[in-house]
Amino acid sequence: MGKLAFFLMIGVLVYWLIKVRLSEEKKHQENHTDEKNNTLESPEEMVRCAYCDIHLPRNESISSHGNFYCSDEHRSAHLNSSS
Ligand SMILES: [Zn+2]
Repeated sequence: MGKLAFFLMIGVLVYWLIKVRLSEEKKHQENHTDEKNNTLESPEEMVRCAYCDIHLPRNESISSHGNFYCSDEHRSAHLNSSS
């Protein structure tokens, strides 16, 4: 019975080590995703409409030929006026 108890103890120890390791990795991954989300979302890049000079977030703008526009109307209007 002494042997069985010994193996049981080792089994519990290994299980516990794996559990701790997994939870630590999960924590690290969660931290990394948090950092990624922060860098993606918090500094919102502002761009300027090439037609009316209004400032707007880049993800709400329309980009064309390296310029940004606040709306599709201004994009076509600017393209028509420049060509
Ligand atoms: Zn505009």
